[in-house]
Amino acid sequence: LNIEEWNGKEQWHPMGHPNDMLQKPPLIIKKGKGVHIEDNHGRKMIDGFAGLWNINCGYNRQEIKDAIINQLDELVYYSTFKGTSHPRSIELAHLLMEMTKPENMKRVMFSSGGSDAMETAMRIARQYWKMEGQKDRYKFISLKQGYHGTHFGAASVNGNTRFRRNYEPLLPGCSHIDAPWTYRNPYTENPEELGKICAELLEREIQFQSPDTVAAFIMEPVLGAGGVIVPPDNFMPLVREVCDKYDVLLIADEVVTGFGRSGSMFGSRAWGVKPDIMTLAKGISSGYIPLGATLCNERIDNVFKANNDSFGAIGHGYTYSGHPVACAAAIAALNIVIKEDLPANARKLGNHLMNRLKPFENTYKTVGDVRGKGLMFAIEFVKDKTSKKPNREIVSKIHKKMIEKGAFVRASGNAIIISPPLIINKKELDSIVDIFETSLIEAEAL
Ligand code: PLP
Repeated sequence: LNIEEWNGKEQWHPMGHPNDMLQKPPLIIKKGKGVHIEDNHGRKMIDGFAGLWNINCGYNRQEIKDAIINQLDELVYYSTFKGTSHPRSIELAHLLMEMTKPENMKRVMFSSGGSDAMETAMRIARQYWKMEGQKDRYKFISLKQGYHGTHFGAASVNGNTRFRRNYEPLLPGCSHIDAPWTYRNPYTENPEELGKICAELLEREIQFQSPDTVAAFIMEPVLGAGGVIVPPDNFMPLVREVCDKYDVLLIADEVVTGFGRSGSMFGSRAWGVKPDIMTLAKGISSGYIPLGATLCNERIDNVFKANNDSFGAIGHGYTYSGHPVACAAAIAALNIVIKEDLPANARKLGNHLMNRLKPFENTYKTVGDVRGKGLMFAIEFVKDKTSKKPNREIVSKIHKKMIEKGAFVRASGNAIIISPPLIINKKELDSIVDIFETSLIEAEAL
């Protein structure tokens, strides 16, 4: 088959318009090794976006491939629906509990990705309150600009109209508060003050909804798809306090931030916060096989355990909850994350990236804001620094030039997102920054 002829003609590409796909056909990525990818013309690029924030251990890792092949030989599939299990899901569940001991997580439900993990989290939260005898606690509050996936549950708590509008009406009882976005907010430029204000907004929203109707507050410890919005240091701890005050569960969507991306093993841990539920996907298997996981702490586990009748059983789960091959890939990937201390590499190189990129705010007229934590960064482009009017045009020019020069990053609205595999070294990271800077200089001069 001539793949170029058929590229973009028959597939729905997530978030893509069929006409755009024809005018600007998707780049065909054919190979990957380490931090590099190669397109179907043999053009090699550094992958500055780690696939889709997920290839944390890099491409073509022998350890992960071996684990997958061995598992295929041993057992390709068995169900984990009650009554049966298999070694890899038991081992992965245990590994995850070990890794989340500081958060006091006690039980995990597996699935096939982030949207699944969020759907599971929302169902567990609702069932938890029903079993607690508080049947009216069904509402969810989340952050504007937040992204949690595409199932109706996740879409209902997403904070971007683009992912909601065509699918409304969504789940009843979901509301949103302003994200603590230092660069763009109507309140203050002072991060600490902003953290306090946004936590107060949460408190006011809980009061407005009536506390006895709110099941959970949902947030990403660092907002990823919304443009790498890094909350001020005090925000998540204050959120935990507000949730505790009104007995509202805290769900941390760690689909991107989990397993080192933001410079700590988990994003919540970086803020010193223990959520009640954590959702994980992407980096859990380093993207080798689709996998999602929803972890619950002791408080939730105890309530499920205390309900001995059939009502206490979870009425939820997927054919592929704990797929053996996905679990095998995840165990191998997480062993690399631990052995090579990828969170520490993300933290160290994240600081280096900040030192290199932050000065661009003063050097270049179109750079409005540079922000990031660990190895998740956004550079926001503006028409002018006073109005902060988004500059999308320059982003597409820079993006195109970077591909030509050998670095692939994500263009997201008026921002360039840099989020490479966590195994990247300083030299490779510097080459992304060098290519970015040259492309930016050329694009500004056009
Ligand atoms: N949650 C967050 C924070 C995400 O970034 C994403 C996807 O990008 C999801 C959930 C949904 O994950 P998936 O696309 O695997 O369903």
